[in-house]
Amino acid sequence: MWIDTHCHLDAAEFDADRGAVRAQARAQGVALCVIPAVERSHWSAVAQLAARQGDAYALGIHPLYVPQASEEHLLALDRALTEYQGDTRLVAVGEIGLDFFVPALCEPAVRERQWLFYTAQLKLAQKHQLPVILHVRRSADLLLKGLRQCPVVSGIAHAFNGSAQQAGHFVAMGFALGFGGALTYERALQLRRLACDLPLAALVLETDAPDMPPHWLYQTAEQRALGQAQGRNSPAELPRIAQALADLRGLAVHDLAQASMRNALRVLPKLAALSLTGG
Ligand SMILES: [Zn+2]
Repeated sequence: MWIDTHCHLDAAEFDADRGAVRAQARAQGVALCVIPAVERSHWSAVAQLAARQGDAYALGIHPLYVPQASEEHLLALDRALTEYQGDTRLVAVGEIGLDFFVPALCEPAVRERQWLFYTAQLKLAQKHQLPVILHVRRSADLLLKGLRQCPVVSGIAHAFNGSAQQAGHFVAMGFALGFGGALTYERALQLRRLACDLPLAALVLETDAPDMPPHWLYQTAEQRALGQAQGRNSPAELPRIAQALADLRGLAVHDLAQASMRNALRVLPKLAALSLTGG
């Protein structure tokens, strides 16, 4: 059995067939999906979706949505975390973090605003005793700085793509690192090395669906120019991504399933109270 620790099932890409996508993943052994919200207008939708599908969710403001967010949204997040605190399916604050890859987000004023939203949400995670799900993109050192100033119980550095040293700092702070479709590309040498070298106890698996398609779904720029849409990632891909990681590590896929499940329950402890058989 598998847990997809990061899956945007509320995304519009799944509007036409969300139930079928989830059922297909369940048939592939994906017992639980963690659905992180990206902005305020999605909070009640992810909570309802998780309840309907027997999954888990996180509430937060994603760095890509910070330019449109107001400080009032941080107060609203505090209220929502209080309101939902008895909900066993609310397992983390997320998706939060810093993105210094997207050019528009690298303007000094926007960097500062990202930092404000990131640190304010860390404080809310601390206050509500919840782990965090972090978006890391050219930002690992500053994310770590925030965590040193405002330690949280645990969390996941999702789609991790930093150095081994940065990975070690996250692990020392009680975090797991999320790996997904990116490691299925042969040219992802540094990421693959990291995924091999890290202690098994530091890894969790994720698809980040509908984004981050594994190589078997990826359409090249030429294919897209010819009119083929980019392949849509889905949580049903998780076992095949896991097989790729197991092969890289020379591990039986069954052992990876057990270890990654154990790790997910350790860093997102509220998952343990949820049924792994659906509903
Ligand atoms: Zn995400």
